[in-house]
Amino acid sequence: MLIFQSLTKSDLADALLPLSTAKEERDLRTLTDESEREALLLKIGKKKRKQAEMRAKQLFHWVYQRYVTDYDQMTDIAKEIRAWLKDNVKIFRLEESYSKQSEDGTYKFLWKLNDTKTIESVIIPAALKEKVGEEVMSTLEDGKRYSGIEVEKAGLDRELDTDSWARLTACISSQVGCAMACKFCLTGVQGLDRSLEVHEVVTQVHELRMRAPITNIVFMGMGEPLHNVKNIAKACQILLDEDGMNFSKRKVTVSTSGLVPAIAELYEQTDVSLAISLNASTDEQRSQIMPVNKRWPIAELLAACRKVPLGGHRRITFEYVMLRDFNDTLEDAKRVAQMLRGIPSKVNLIPFNEHSGADFKRPKDDTVLKFQRYLLSQGYTTTVRISRGRDILAACGQLRSLFGTARGTEKHRDAPQLAP
Ligand code: SF4
Repeated sequence: MLIFQSLTKSDLADALLPLSTAKEERDLRTLTDESEREALLLKIGKKKRKQAEMRAKQLFHWVYQRYVTDYDQMTDIAKEIRAWLKDNVKIFRLEESYSKQSEDGTYKFLWKLNDTKTIESVIIPAALKEKVGEEVMSTLEDGKRYSGIEVEKAGLDRELDTDSWARLTACISSQVGCAMACKFCLTGVQGLDRSLEVHEVVTQVHELRMRAPITNIVFMGMGEPLHNVKNIAKACQILLDEDGMNFSKRKVTVSTSGLVPAIAELYEQTDVSLAISLNASTDEQRSQIMPVNKRWPIAELLAACRKVPLGGHRRITFEYVMLRDFNDTLEDAKRVAQMLRGIPSKVNLIPFNEHSGADFKRPKDDTVLKFQRYLLSQGYTTTVRISRGRDILAACGQLRSLFGTARGTEKHRDAPQLAP
């Protein structure tokens, strides 16, 4: 049995090809001339392919644009095709085993997979519609004014009422757990269970879109997306399909901790935006918190970034988790500014979201502001991510851990916070 959400439109057309017909097929029986037969066969092949592609397009519209998951309701698809689809192509659904809205508007979902393993996705609302385009100006001690701070405001308090938000970002998981063992990350503590299949990735977005008009996707949930690059690249092809969910390549961001060879592999297969989880200003520092850096140090990572075919005005986002007294000094900011020179980049500072799986502390607000202001003064668009969903454990891996389903963990001691 095929799974609908694991197929690109072209895969689906391939599957539908044997069901396609062309009236010229009757004429084949009477034709004896070999070259005429060949020409007719070619014509028939083209017609059948076109028909299959047209059907695949219709089906993509039904499933991804009209959110219909029952073939019987797809009235412009012939009955016998629908019957074949029911027997051969399953439209996958994820079982929602838990969902909760944070006080700040973040929605967090825990999904149960067919093998009972669990993954999580989060909807992060941002940028109130009436505030779009408005820049927050920041006046520094030196009297200069810098712009470039994104407007983000919390306050959505109605259930899945998403009307007032211009941007709804879906944060998607790529693996069950993660092998990269970043020291500041709860998923890293849990270890890798398995990678997600294409349909499990695509369906997270599909399910969320059935609930809210998602505008952006970030692969920043559980897992290292480039450790599962084949499936993630194919999932991105499906997410970008104009007859499907039709996301722009600017609105889909794959974030990596730095699996250098897989960056080029991703761009051979799809064209999406890239985020790098940088989190340090020296190799020594980075290797302490991200084991991947021992294999692919910062210079190699940045060399791979310079080769990314960005085009247009696209930039690479460098995520920087700020850890108190570890990587949050002005000297760190200076080194970051220096190393990113020449790369079209923007920096997203993430003050550490404290959890019981790591000993790091959140830096003081003043320290974060100074770091941001230095980078702004060097011409880098630098945002500070507002912690979202802290009351529902939205930090990486925390919700899953709560349910005691992660490998190697019992119920997490953060759990009582979520008790109903
Ligand atoms: S930060 Fe990302 S790559 Fe690192 S352990 Fe956590 S999920 Fe994996």
